[in-house]
Amino acid sequence: MNSMEISEQLLNMLRCPSCQNSLKYDSAKENLACWRCGKEYPLEDNIPRFKK
Ligand SMILES: [Zn+2]
Repeated sequence: MNSMEISEQLLNMLRCPSCQNSLKYDSAKENLACWRCGKEYPLEDNIPRFKK
């Protein structure tokens, strides 16, 4: 397991807290991004940190 990558299964379960859209993983930035509202969420130990 590569600890720097989030699993596709987990990614499919996650939704943007702002607009409930699906998120995509940005491997360059190592964060999650919502393509709809443009918000980015950093990953910490593979757990997304959602800030309101
Ligand atoms: Zn969003």
